[in-house]
Amino acid sequence: MIRLFPNCGGWLEVVCGPMFSGKSEELIRRLRRAEIAGQRALIVKPRLDDRYDIGHVVSHAGARMRAVVVDEPADIPGLVDGYDVVGIDEVQFFPPEIVLILDGLVEGGLRIVACGLDQDFRGFPFGAMPELLCRAELVDKLQAVCHSCGGPATMTQRLVDGAPAPADGATIVVGALEQYEARCRSCHQLAAPALAAG
Ligand code: ADP
Ligand code: MG
Ligand code: ZN
Repeated sequence: MIRLFPNCGGWLEVVCGPMFSGKSEELIRRLRRAEIAGQRALIVKPRLDDRYDIGHVVSHAGARMRAVVVDEPADIPGLVDGYDVVGIDEVQFFPPEIVLILDGLVEGGLRIVACGLDQDFRGFPFGAMPELLCRAELVDKLQAVCHSCGGPATMTQRLVDGAPAPADGATIVVGALEQYEARCRSCHQLAAPALAAG
């Protein structure tokens, strides 16, 4: 195998950006190219992300690739035997242990492609993403198209009944009927905390 970083075995790539920015598409593209190069590639994703298809990563445009669902970061090392490249989708949903688990896999010689939201719906750093971005050999921050103005979108807008979500909402909402849009910084909005609004 031709190595991008010949003297250090594995490496970590991070692909981040708001919802709809093409992270899952990019993950699938990179892992398919690895397969074309004759390498073995595996995608894992957290169980939390079961929006479309539990056994696949599916992009908003319909691209899909088989994925293994894991409950916690410690499950990942047991799955990667024999693989050259491991992709993680929605990595922001994993707890902080994901950092040392991925670090160990990279030390062991794996190429890791970790994809996820860099910011939550408030614009705050999401989960372990800051730490992963800092440790990565390669970083890509993708932009979506702002749903409001058509400009480059770097943020994720949460809407509740069509209105901006309150700033004190839970970061991760499972199973709620919420809607998300990609927005640029000037079109992104937060409502006052629900408590303050009475
Ligand atoms: P992510 O994983 O970052 O949420 P996906 O890879 O699932 O993104 O989806 C990217 C695709 O979503 C684009 O190629 C495009 O077809 C579609 N899409 C829908 N809405 C938008 C938008 N506002 N900006 C960019 N792409 C969008
Ligand atoms: Mg995605
Ligand atoms: Zn905008």
